[in-house]
Amino acid sequence: MATDQPDATQDPTPFDADALRAKYRAERDKRLRDDGNEQYVEVKGRFAHYLDDPYAEPGFSREPLTDEVEVVVVGGGFGGLLAGARLRQAGVEDIRMIDPAGDFGGTWYWNRYPGIACDIESYTYLPLLEELGYMPKEKYSFGPEILSHSQAIAKKFDLYRDVCFQTRVEELRWDDDDARWIITTNRGDRMRAHYVCLATGPLNRPKLPGIPGIEEFEGHSFHASRWDYDYTGGAADDPRLTGLAGKRVGIIGTGATSVQCVPHVGEWAERLHVFQRTPSSIDVKHNPQTDPDWASQQGPGWHQARMDNFNMLVSGIPQPEDLVNDGWTDLIAKLIVGMTSGRNKDMSPEGIAQAVELADFEKMEEIRARVEAVVEDPDTAESLKPFYRQFCKRPCFHNEYLDTFNRPNVELVDTKGKGVEQITKKGAVVDGVEYELDCLIYASGFEVGTDYSRRAGFQLYGREGESLSDRWDGGVRTLHGMHVHGFPNCFIMSNPQAGFTANYPHLLNEQAKHVAYIIRKGIDDGIEAVEVSTEGEQAWIDQCIGKARNAGDFFENCTPGYYNNEGKTGERSAQDGFYGGGSIEFFQILEAWRKADDLDGMERR
Ligand code: NDP
Repeated sequence: MATDQPDATQDPTPFDADALRAKYRAERDKRLRDDGNEQYVEVKGRFAHYLDDPYAEPGFSREPLTDEVEVVVVGGGFGGLLAGARLRQAGVEDIRMIDPAGDFGGTWYWNRYPGIACDIESYTYLPLLEELGYMPKEKYSFGPEILSHSQAIAKKFDLYRDVCFQTRVEELRWDDDDARWIITTNRGDRMRAHYVCLATGPLNRPKLPGIPGIEEFEGHSFHASRWDYDYTGGAADDPRLTGLAGKRVGIIGTGATSVQCVPHVGEWAERLHVFQRTPSSIDVKHNPQTDPDWASQQGPGWHQARMDNFNMLVSGIPQPEDLVNDGWTDLIAKLIVGMTSGRNKDMSPEGIAQAVELADFEKMEEIRARVEAVVEDPDTAESLKPFYRQFCKRPCFHNEYLDTFNRPNVELVDTKGKGVEQITKKGAVVDGVEYELDCLIYASGFEVGTDYSRRAGFQLYGREGESLSDRWDGGVRTLHGMHVHGFPNCFIMSNPQAGFTANYPHLLNEQAKHVAYIIRKGIDDGIEAVEVSTEGEQAWIDQCIGKARNAGDFFENCTPGYYNNEGKTGERSAQDGFYGGGSIEFFQILEAWRKADDLDGMERR
């Protein structure tokens, strides 16, 4: 037995930690590739039609705008909605929201595939529940409810007033003489704004897998984030996909999107081939209706308290009570059992790290045991078992996904970490076998690690006419992930150098409060331009790199994916990644900074 194994007399875990470590490493190594993010195909040119909006009013047109507003918010998803709401609460009236979509909702506008739902508990995930006096219908809301909640937020905070939908920003350029941003769009607009807030979303630009021959396929195809109900039949709130009768369908990808739509496609298609490169971890999803008695007992402040409780637990900080109590918080529950039962006595940092790893093994053993219990064919079950630590990839939660592989018309095509070999006129090839398909659905994810302006779809030019891409060429440079030297009065609500939380809207809410505070202060103090100083920016970068080093090599040992920059870790990713001190510390830093009320690290004029 390895020396770092706990004493067998105290260890109730029936697994060999060394063997699991070796297996995890082997599975990671199988998937590491030199091209990282470059493996994917950018959706443009001949692939641009994969971005077409299936939901917007066709033929929409309006006169170009050349006016001026106080704040332009780019993006009408949760980030933009929260920024708009917090700005309104701060008394800022002159706000214009811009979004390429036909309505508010962001990711919940675009993603309407069958089965779509949140799997972070809705009572913590949906923003501004208390402000709207709204309680979700179930523990995990389905997509249509989340989309209408987004629109309700916009109505409540009067964000439809001056909105520009179906409008794509093409360029943002700072005019230093007038201290205004000039915003040009695909609608011929040339509007001006004192402040710009960029809430373009972390998962906003679909990507296609870089499979040779992808342009050859002659059947029907679409990306899951633009679900083609005209072809499949059904609707976002009606998963009867009658159009798939008699059709041979392929789905590429087995991430959170695929996990939710596969059961529906499997139910209606003549044949379904699910092409898997890496299996997701699939935990149970207990989704009761909201109890009206419980809902009526929630007093003022309940929503923030619940978000904080969840965030503490998934950050590994034990709480007196687990309010959410689901698959996300289960890992920490296991850890606490390990600590309190006396199994893990060593409270040194190394001892704690080992205890966390053991709790993780235990959790993932449960996940793998569930696969074995549900999936009848032993080879398929083996292929569906994830061998990596739970938070290496986005954990998934579903009660029908695994069972779908027991259907006679559904086949898992395990590419054993290699991906689909080739796409042909007729279908997809794996291991020399061609799978003929009528329809190919790409559940291949979104751009995360590529250049910011490529993902946002526009370029920013700052004070000296320098582009943001050039400014960030050697790595992301910000204060608090939001402010960039040379780009005054501009706020970027994004991931790099900001605190990671599994409940992403929690981060957006804290960023939105920060944006609203600075703009309000700017208006009150008659500030023309506010900008992070070079020293303020450098100090934050140094802090981010230092914290990332301390965070250790968790992601380096993970199987590749967008959580670890497709396996490309190292110095650059320490700078470009999340703030290594975690979201709790990050939120405290922002709050203390606002409290000091001196715009520390920033220059104003
Ligand atoms: P992901 O990036 O998670 O998944 C993409 C999938 O495509 C992966 O399984 C990937 O495999 C696979 N893939 C890529 N290239 C190939 C290839 N050449 N051959 C075969 N397979 C390939 O995208 P999703 O849209 O599923 O999810 C993105 C994120 O959106 C989630 O992580 C989550 O944050 C969010 N989301 C949340 C939901 C919720 O709240 N319920 C629902 C849906 C999405 P590999 O893993 O090997 O790279």
